[in-house]
Amino acid sequence: MRSPVEPRTSIPLYDAHNHLQDERFSGQQGAIIAAARDENIRRMVVNGSSEADWPEVLDLAHRYPQVIPSFGYHPWYIRDRTEGWEQSLIRFLEQIPSGLGEIGLDKWIKNHDLPQQEKVFQRQLEIAAQRDLPVSIHCLQAWGRLLEILQTGPRPRCGFLLHSFGGPRELIEPLAELGAYFSLPGYFAQERKARQRETFRHVPRDRLLIETDAPDQSLPPARVRYSLAPAPDGKPINHPANLTSVYQFAAELLHEPVQGLAAQVEKNFQRLFGGIASRDNPVSEQTQK
Ligand SMILES: [Zn+2]
Repeated sequence: MRSPVEPRTSIPLYDAHNHLQDERFSGQQGAIIAAARDENIRRMVVNGSSEADWPEVLDLAHRYPQVIPSFGYHPWYIRDRTEGWEQSLIRFLEQIPSGLGEIGLDKWIKNHDLPQQEKVFQRQLEIAAQRDLPVSIHCLQAWGRLLEILQTGPRPRCGFLLHSFGGPRELIEPLAELGAYFSLPGYFAQERKARQRETFRHVPRDRLLIETDAPDQSLPPARVRYSLAPAPDGKPINHPANLTSVYQFAAELLHEPVQGLAAQVEKNFQRLFGGIASRDNPVSEQTQK
């Protein structure tokens, strides 16, 4: 369902991070992509999180030109990995131009096994560095280790995304020096996320990206324009076409006209993810003359 608000920008929008393959969307992806097209969403980076969902991510990329696929082992699911997970990951990466993610470190979840997480994370960084693929990183409460690993180990030259960046403000500069981009989710418009909002005011404009993280990280209800029936557990399901509202939130937060912000985000997205878009389906239609 769509509320009667006019699209606010003629510049195409880019979702730096979502999970269109998530089972909470199952069967609805075609309608979701149609809504995204109405909202002028040109590209979305769709992140796999384990061997179980990589085939679905690949399938969506074949079906919809908006989808930039990304394959990786999320730290929450590394216990599920098979002996052949690395070969399998490489096979997916070689089948289609793609990013590597969602990968990362997480000390927030219960019973985390940080040494195992680090091992899997570092191996995936290595694979990305060898192929110079943009990496999408999840990090919760492990910022010190993340910085150390990125400073000392291999990392892709093209850069990496810190999705839903909620780290300390002091780390923006050293991370940016290593090639970081920082994406803002609509969830940070929730009232209690004041610290994260303040942090985002310090992100260099040429490293800023916008994301939905759909089906997670919903906007506050007043900003939601597209809704889906809630999950059986009652949790809201974030619709990827709400990206327009996340841009609007970002523009308000940074005191910038949404049009100018969208133009900057387009350049940033192109710089980080443009290299893996296929030539007959480039990320941006704005060609250099
Ligand atoms: Zn995610």
